[in-house]
Amino acid sequence: MQTNFKKNQLLDPEIENSEKIFRKCVHCGMCNATCPTYKILGDELDGPRGRIYMIKDMLENNKPASKKIVKHIDRCLSCYACLTTCPSGVDYMHLIDHGRNHIERTYNRPIFERLLRAMLAYVLPKPKLFKFLSKIVSFTKPLHFLLPKKIKQIISYIPKNFSSSQFPNNLVFKPSKKSISKVALLTGCVQKAISPNINDASINVLLRHGIEVHILKEVKCCGSLTHHLGKENISHKYFIENINAWYSLYEKHKIDAILVNTSGCGTTIKDYGFIFKNHPDKLLRKKAKLVSDIALDITEYLEESIKLDFTRSNHTKRYNIAYHSACSMQHGQKVHNQPIELLKKTGNNILEVPDGHLCCGSAGTYNLLQDELASELLKRKCENIKKVKPDIIAAGNIGCINQIANGIEIPIVHTIELIDWFTGGKKPSGLNRL
Ligand code: SF4
Ligand code: SF4
Repeated sequence: MQTNFKKNQLLDPEIENSEKIFRKCVHCGMCNATCPTYKILGDELDGPRGRIYMIKDMLENNKPASKKIVKHIDRCLSCYACLTTCPSGVDYMHLIDHGRNHIERTYNRPIFERLLRAMLAYVLPKPKLFKFLSKIVSFTKPLHFLLPKKIKQIISYIPKNFSSSQFPNNLVFKPSKKSISKVALLTGCVQKAISPNINDASINVLLRHGIEVHILKEVKCCGSLTHHLGKENISHKYFIENINAWYSLYEKHKIDAILVNTSGCGTTIKDYGFIFKNHPDKLLRKKAKLVSDIALDITEYLEESIKLDFTRSNHTKRYNIAYHSACSMQHGQKVHNQPIELLKKTGNNILEVPDGHLCCGSAGTYNLLQDELASELLKRKCENIKKVKPDIIAAGNIGCINQIANGIEIPIVHTIELIDWFTGGKKPSGLNRL
């Protein structure tokens, strides 16, 4: 793709980087074939190629974002299916991030939208506040008919019950036998509030296999939710806090990895190094790179570094398990085979979902902000899952788990909960009705 940025524009490292990405695009349009929004809407501007043109146009001409551009960029799921498909290696992920930041800086959204996005960016990364507000929402149910449709739809995604973690708020969990490795675990923000069982299962599996687990109270949110809302000021604050906290832990305890059990967060943490690669603070650049380098999805770590012990489990019944590959996992992190191989080791029959490269519509806050497209994608995902007739669905991302649970009766749990169960842990609560 030809570009016409001026010399002084290219002095901005963000522009310089995006310009290199634009130049790689050869307009072939192959990415449109796997783009969920292009598949549904059939509009060139709702596919990656069209979005790349629009972002280039805004940046090159230093134009504020228009209503039309915002509409089409907002419809992008950041699922990165286009990243996997593109034969020229166009780094769409960083272009859309740049585009979103530009929109946030130059476009004045209608007041309701602004308030809604600000509210999501403020509340979701704070588990205690999220739980508190969810309770208020539950108590005021008889009055919900007074609320705008959009708010009612958002409320429908709030879980009715919140369980508690089996573990105290310890910062270090030591295995009963001598530890073979030390890791940090990201416990997440929304996940910690609505599904502490996922962190419990992760800690159980790690301790059972002799791995010491460190959880840092300084690490509150990976910053991904606000990053994808284009709220750079907020997300960078989270990024820097996390980088400093994990780097100190690395220096002090020589941890081998930072484990992530929410793939949406994992994609962003693995990108910290890139995000800060041009930062004036040399030490921050070094720390960010280190953090990204040692960040792993928990299934990636278990499959590649640990010999799991399945002998404690006395399961006789075997299940058909459909594995839903979260976009952030398969496209964002290129982690696809590891969770499937891990699940296969449990002795169950693991099934891949047809059209598994397509998003379920969750995508961070997408199902809250773009409910019609998200519902259509959910419908398609559930139809595809049903085709393989599973007893259980497994996924590695809390967003997908909640989204799919809203559209299908088949129980869905996190991959690590199944690994916990089949290595001697308790049955996941989500499978009680099995
Ligand atoms: S597939 Fe890659 S090179 Fe082709 S249009 Fe899409 S982004 Fe450009
Ligand atoms: S990230 Fe997903 S929705 Fe966005 S352009 Fe790429 S394939 Fe389409």
